Amino acid sequence: MTEPAGGIHTKTTLVDITKCIGCRACQVACKHWNEGEGEATELEYNLGFQNPATLSAKTLTLITFHELPNEQAQGGLNYLFTMRRCLHCLEPACTSACPTTALARMADGPVGYDADKCIGCRYCVWACPWGVPTPEWDSLTPKIKKCTHCADREDQPVPLERNSVPLTADETDRYKKSITTPACVKACPADALTFGDRDSILQDAHARIAAHPDKYVDHIYGEKEAGGTTVVYLSSVPFEKIGFPDVGTKPYPGFSRTALHAVPPAVIAVGAMLGGVYSFMKRRTVALIAAAENNSALASKPKFAPLDAPLLTPFNWGLLALMAFGVISLITRFVLGLGGSTHLSNTYPWGLWIVFDLVWIAVAAGAFATAGIIYVFQRKDLYSLGRSAVLMGLLSYSFVTVTLIADLGLPWNSYQLALQSPEQSAMFEVSWCVGLYVTILLLEFLPVPFERWGLARAMAIWQKWSGAYVAGAVTLFVFLLSRNYVYAALAAVVFSALAWLFRAKDKKPEPIILAIAAVTLSTMHQSSLGSLFLLMPDKLAPQWWSPVMPISFFLSSIAAGTGLVIVIEMWIARGWNRPTPMRQLAAMGQITFWSLLVYAIFRLADMGVRGQFAGAFGGTMGALFIAELVVGFVIPLALLARQSSRMLPRTLFLGASLTTAGVVFNRINVVYFAMHVKGAMPQVAPEHYAPSIFEWGISVGLIATTIFLFGLGVRLMPVLPAKETIQGD
Ligand code: SF4
Ligand code: SF4
Ligand code: SF4
Repeated sequence: MTEPAGGIHTKTTLVDITKCIGCRACQVACKHWNEGEGEATELEYNLGFQNPATLSAKTLTLITFHELPNEQAQGGLNYLFTMRRCLHCLEPACTSACPTTALARMADGPVGYDADKCIGCRYCVWACPWGVPTPEWDSLTPKIKKCTHCADREDQPVPLERNSVPLTADETDRYKKSITTPACVKACPADALTFGDRDSILQDAHARIAAHPDKYVDHIYGEKEAGGTTVVYLSSVPFEKIGFPDVGTKPYPGFSRTALHAVPPAVIAVGAMLGGVYSFMKRRTVALIAAAENNSALASKPKFAPLDAPLLTPFNWGLLALMAFGVISLITRFVLGLGGSTHLSNTYPWGLWIVFDLVWIAVAAGAFATAGIIYVFQRKDLYSLGRSAVLMGLLSYSFVTVTLIADLGLPWNSYQLALQSPEQSAMFEVSWCVGLYVTILLLEFLPVPFERWGLARAMAIWQKWSGAYVAGAVTLFVFLLSRNYVYAALAAVVFSALAWLFRAKDKKPEPIILAIAAVTLSTMHQSSLGSLFLLMPDKLAPQWWSPVMPISFFLSSIAAGTGLVIVIEMWIARGWNRPTPMRQLAAMGQITFWSLLVYAIFRLADMGVRGQFAGAFGGTMGALFIAELVVGFVIPLALLARQSSRMLPRTLFLGASLTTAGVVFNRINVVYFAMHVKGAMPQVAPEHYAPSIFEWGISVGLIATTIFLFGLGVRLMPVLPAKETIQGD
C-alpha cells in the first residue's frame, strides 16, 4: 500500500533492531507520556531481564530480550533487544472486528481508540494477530489499551514564544515536527527508532539492507505482513528467531469481508426465496387437503391447553436455588468488575459466557427451524411442536442477551451500536441481528398469551401491525449493515410485499411473515457467528477454521436446533407423564438426519477441497476432531437414518441428543480447545483459564431460569397440545 491520496503521509516508525541497546528509554517514555502505572518487577527465568513479560494495560511498549547462541560472539551469545508494540496495520484486524468503531484507523496511519465508543466486547483482543490490545482488568470500567502511535501528541499547543522572544515560522515548524514525533522515538539515544512517512521509511530500510547485507537479513518485517504495517522492523537475524510470528501477507479483514458484505443482499434474497417457497407449498398443501379430505394431519390443528401440574416441585425448588446463585453472581459481576469476578485474561479475553452464548444460540435454532418448517414449508403435521419451540427460543435468546451484557466491559456504551457504522464487523451484525430476532420471537409468541387471556384487541393490533414491524425491522437491519439506500429500498419493497401478500385474512392467522423474518434473521446471525472466527486463521486449528465457517455454523444450527426440539419434547412427555408424540418427533428426526447429513458432507467436502485432511487426525487436535466426527456425525446419522429406528423412542432420543451434543462440542472446540491462544505480545507467557465460580453461577443460573420460566409458561398458557389430542406411539 502506498501513500494515501490527498497528500496525507502515512506516519511510520522504523525499528532497527541491530541498533537497539536495550536501555528501555522508549518503554519509560511511553509510560510517562501515557501516564501508565508502574508494574511490579517479576523476572521470568527464560526471559532474561525482560520486564514485564508482556504488554498490558499499563505497558504499551516493551523491550524484549533475546539471547541467541553464536560461537563467534563474546560469551558465546548474541544479545538482541526488540521494541514490541502495536504495529498500526494498514488494514487492521482490530478495527474490522470492532462493532462500534472505537478502534479506528486515522487517515495518516495511527490506529486510535475512543473509550467513549467502546462497549468492552474484547473482540479486538482476540482478533489482533499479535496480541496487542489489552483490557484494563483491574478497573470497574475496563477500557482497551494499546499504543496510539502518539497521535494525541498533535493536540499539544505550540508555544508562541521562547524566553519572551516570538518563535519564527521555521522554529514553529520545527517545534510542531518535534512534538508530533512519538515519545518513544524522541527518547531513543541509539538512533534505533526513525519516524517519517512510510514510503521514505521503506526506502531508507531497503537502502540500509543494500548497504549492509552482512548486517541485516533481507526482510523488512511489516512491509508486507498482514497487508503491511506502519511500524516496520529491520533485524540481523530471521524474525522467527526473535519471536515475530509469521502472519502471512493477506490483510486480516479480507478473511471476513466477503462473508459480511454478502449479508445485506442475502437478507433480501433469502426473504424473497422463502416467500416463493411458502406460496408453492401452500398451494400444494391446499391441493393435498382437497385430494385427501380425511387427512386429519393436514387439515386440522391440535388444541393447546395450559399444563395442569404443581409448580413448586423439588425439581423447581432446585432451579430456584440455582437462579438465586445466578442473581448473586450477576450482582458480584458488576460490584467486582470483570477482572475481579472472572478468570478472564489477556490470553482468554472470552471465556465460559461466550462459549455458553455460542452453544445456546446454536441449540436455540430449533425455534426458527420449527417455525420455518411448519409455516413456510407447510408441515402442518408438526404444528403441535411449534409453540413450545418458540417459547424455548424466546427464553433462550433473551437470556443470551443477559449473558452478553454481563460479558461486556462497558455495557452502558451499548447505545453506540445504534450510532456507529463499522464498515465490516461480525460482532456488529450479530448484535443487531440477535436483538431484532428476539423481538420477532416475541411477536411470534404473543398470540399465545392473547388467546389465553382473551385479549382480542391486542390480537387485532398484532394482526394489523406485525407485518409492518417486520418490514421496518429488516429494512433497518439491511441499512445499518450496508449503509446503502438501494439495498435498504429493496429490503423494504421485498418484505413489505411479503407482509402484504401473506397478511392475516381470517381469525386464526398464520404468522407467515414472522416465520419468514425469523428464518431470514436466524440464517444471518447463525452464519455470522461463524464469521466471528474468520479473523483468527492463525489461532484456530485447521480442522475447524475455514473460509466457509459461516455456512457450517448455519447448517449445524439446524441439526442442533431440531435435535434439541426432539429432546425437549421427550423430556416434557416423560417429566409430566404425557404421551410422546412419536409420529411428529420421528418426522422431526428425519429433518434432523438430513440437516446433519448435509452439514457433515459440506464440512468434510470443504476440508477435502482445501486439502486439510493431511495431518487432521494426529495429536490432541486430531483426537478432538475424531471425537467430533464419531459422536457428532457417525453415530447420530446411523441412529436416525431409518424411519423404523426413528420410531423407537430410545434410539430417537439418543440420535437427537448426540446430534445436539456434537454441535455443542464443535462450538466448545472452536472457542476453547482448538483455539491456540498465546496471550499478549510478545506471546511468551500464555495464561491458563478455568471459569470462576461467578462465571459458572451466571451461566447455570440462566439455564435454570430458562427451564423454570418454560415450566411456568406452559402451566399458565396454552403452549403444549392438550393431552387428549396427542397421538402417542
Ligand atoms: S497490531 Fe493489532 S492492535 Fe495494532 S493495528 Fe494491527 S491489529 Fe490493531
Ligand atoms: S468495542 Fe470491542 S472491539 Fe471495539 S475497542 Fe472496544 S473492546 Fe475492542
Ligand atoms: S508511539 Fe507513543 S504510545 Fe506508541 S509506543 Fe511510542 S511512546 Fe508509546
